[in-house]
Amino acid sequence: MYKVHPLVVGQAHVGAVLDVFWSLTRQQGLVEVPILAFLIEGGPEPILVDTGMREPERATGVHRLGPHSKSREQSLQAQLALHGLEPGDIRTTLITHLHYDHAGGMELLPNSRFVVQRTEIMAAAAPMGPAELEIGSKDMFFDRKDIAAVVDSLWDRVDMLEGNKQILPGIEAVLYPNSHTPGSQCFYVETEDGTVALVGDMVRKVDLNVDKAIPPGLFYDLESMMRALADIKGRADLIYPAHDPHIARLGTGYTGPFDT
Ligand SMILES: [Zn+2]
Repeated sequence: MYKVHPLVVGQAHVGAVLDVFWSLTRQQGLVEVPILAFLIEGGPEPILVDTGMREPERATGVHRLGPHSKSREQSLQAQLALHGLEPGDIRTTLITHLHYDHAGGMELLPNSRFVVQRTEIMAAAAPMGPAELEIGSKDMFFDRKDIAAVVDSLWDRVDMLEGNKQILPGIEAVLYPNSHTPGSQCFYVETEDGTVALVGDMVRKVDLNVDKAIPPGLFYDLESMMRALADIKGRADLIYPAHDPHIARLGTGYTGPFDT
């Protein structure tokens, strides 16, 4: 049985439209959300899921999003230290997807291997999207510095997955093609409380996206996204979205609002 700990590795102001399918919300403003990574303990080694963002300034400068921040307490090192770990102790990091706020700290982990879907690396290296997009631009929220690291300095430590895989007994990776990103994957972890789904950004808000089956605002293929959300609902007892203030509350260091 594993334990899953949220790590609060930053905060972000992003459009509320990311929570629900564009045309189904009138809420057009910014919301403040946490940026979460997760630590899985209880197995033969600690396992990290996602690594947060590289530098908060890149969110505004490169991706043209709202303000982002990362306090000293929210650094990956500080969040791991809360659990008695140093970055060098992590030997396996599971990456839900390669967006700037999930794969921005990989170089901080000198001994880790990185588990990523092959299709995600392909899509992130050459994103499909209009160059004139107002936010995201033609990088579509993939930071070229992260992708450069994946295909160069970290390459020998990248474990490319080709679909679903058991990472360890009780930890499953499931690929959801063309959902939040072309190669987004979720990790299902067996805990005392049941199966915890670490969903990355497949789910923004459980009540809207899963219970009411309203897809979140960013997806590549609507049909694939809807099927993925139904599959997540069927597999998981608990769903931990990577930007959910209520999940952040289970960790340490989040100072943003909980009422979004
Ligand atoms: Zn995200």
